[in-house]
Amino acid sequence: MSALRIILGDQLAADIAALDDLDPATDIVLMMEVMDETTYVPHHKQKIVLVLAAMRHFAAELRQRGVTVDYITLDDPENTGSLTTELQRAIARHRPDRLVVTEAGEWRVQEMVNGWHKLTGLPVEIREDRRFFASRARFADWARGRKTWRMEFFYRELRREHGILMEQGQPAGGEWNFDAENRKPLPARTRPPDRRRFPPDDVTRAVMALVGQRFGGNFGALDDFGWPVTRQDALFALRDFIEAGLPQFGDYQDAMKAGAPFLFHALLAPALNLGLLSPREVCQGAEAAWRAGAAPLNAVEGFVRQILGWREYVHGFYWHMMPGYEDSNVLQATRPLPAFYWTGETPMRCLREAVGSTARYAYAHHIQRLMITGNFALLAGIAPRQIERWYLAVYADAYEWVEMPNTLGMAVFADGGQMASKPYAASGAYINRMSDFCAGCRYDVKQKTGPDACPFNYLYWAFLIRQKDRLAQNPRLAMPYRNLAGWSAERQAETLAEAEGFLDGLGEASTAFL
Ligand SMILES: Cc1cc2nc3c(=O)[nH]c(=O)nc-3n(C[C@H](O)[C@H](O)[C@H](O)COP(=O)(O)OP(=O)(O)OC[C@H]3O[C@@H](n4cnc5c(N)ncnc54)[C@H](O)[C@@H]3O)c2cc1C
Ligand code: SF4
Repeated sequence: MSALRIILGDQLAADIAALDDLDPATDIVLMMEVMDETTYVPHHKQKIVLVLAAMRHFAAELRQRGVTVDYITLDDPENTGSLTTELQRAIARHRPDRLVVTEAGEWRVQEMVNGWHKLTGLPVEIREDRRFFASRARFADWARGRKTWRMEFFYRELRREHGILMEQGQPAGGEWNFDAENRKPLPARTRPPDRRRFPPDDVTRAVMALVGQRFGGNFGALDDFGWPVTRQDALFALRDFIEAGLPQFGDYQDAMKAGAPFLFHALLAPALNLGLLSPREVCQGAEAAWRAGAAPLNAVEGFVRQILGWREYVHGFYWHMMPGYEDSNVLQATRPLPAFYWTGETPMRCLREAVGSTARYAYAHHIQRLMITGNFALLAGIAPRQIERWYLAVYADAYEWVEMPNTLGMAVFADGGQMASKPYAASGAYINRMSDFCAGCRYDVKQKTGPDACPFNYLYWAFLIRQKDRLAQNPRLAMPYRNLAGWSAERQAETLAEAEGFLDGLGEASTAFL
């Protein structure tokens, strides 16, 4: 019985389920670079390079282990451009008895995989993706029968279940959450550490040339490509983070600094989402640093919560909510995405910085995504699907299962609170407190109205006024709505008009991008 074992582009782990019980004498691994996957959103050039280069390195590692790999490159003249048609060609070449594949990471691809049995007439074994702490079924069990699904409670269950940061059945340090000690602004004199980057080798350079040629018009630069594309480099990146970033990760998790996009962040999501690192080894590495006295508990717990908490939660949430979640638009937001999301050309320095680092590195850290580009999209009423496709396109770590709940649920509150308990709406004061952006901005963060006022200020109030019927009852927004109750009708109308005037003056992104 020969098996054709399909490894998708984000399944690059040696212990991925599809490779279990592989018999090198009879089985073949199929890996496919196809146009459909590189174009379904207009990906940042670095993201395409990252995935293809990591796939090529992974294929080479399998071959070194004696595995036969049938690898279809993007520029193969026979390449038909889709996973399904390439699978059909491979079946004609190898005549396998069965197909083995691991669950796909995105709904769209899973639907494709679900159709393979009917299409090919072969038995198709779809195996569970074990790279998560919690299976899709585990999340569904947890969610069933609960009115609200708050990450914090799911996280605590997983901590207990997997014994991470636990001592005699209790959370290490006596608390589940040390956020009260975290999230400080960065002192002006604190210099963020230099972070390890990974210069491209010959294999990666060949992919860069291909991407430059085929996707030269896509968003983003290639020059600063420095993501790990092998398991070994991903392990180096993990070590670099634990030594250089982790000790101060908690303190400055929400801080932003001009010209310093990485700060103390892990820079590990691209490797994690491809399968080059497992979330378990990353959490265990962080815990070991705390036990060895190399990082404080507030930092380590804060970091573990991002992975064992948020990452697992959004994964389960995505699969529980799909299909249909992609159309969420409870706030009925319809404004087109402004052009500056692609060009970075805006006098608003915070947005310029966030889009600038996104273009240069295919990276911006969580608070830039949530409180700068996301907050602006929320306040401006950008159509959720447009901003969602933007996030999916521009980040090296972007895959729908993790990006979509973060965008629709967290950043723009399009699901009306299924994921977050309130919209993450903030005025310029928050950005000023957490960054040094405002000092060099053309706008004045202290002014609330007028041509020099920070647009986040009047956009914030205009958002609350516009969404009053939907949001005023939210207990977490009681304070701003109490404040708003003291505003005259005239002042509210002026604020709405000022916000509309500003938003109408923004250029609209070319639809060619979306
Ligand atoms: C609008 C929006 C879109 C996002 N899109 C993506 C995406 O496409 N892919 C992606 O991996 N993350 C996404 N995130 C979550 C988060 O911003 C990134 O995981 C993080 O910035 C990656 O950088 P890092 O590795 O330096 O992470 P760190 O900030 O150092 O965090 C450590 C790790 O925790 C995990 N993590 C942290 N926050 C989250 C979260 N909210 N959801 C899931 N995992 C989390 C990641 O694996 C990350 O590597 C998004 C967040 C927002 C607000
Ligand atoms: S003043 Fe407003 S627009 Fe300018 S950087 Fe600060 S928050 Fe951003």
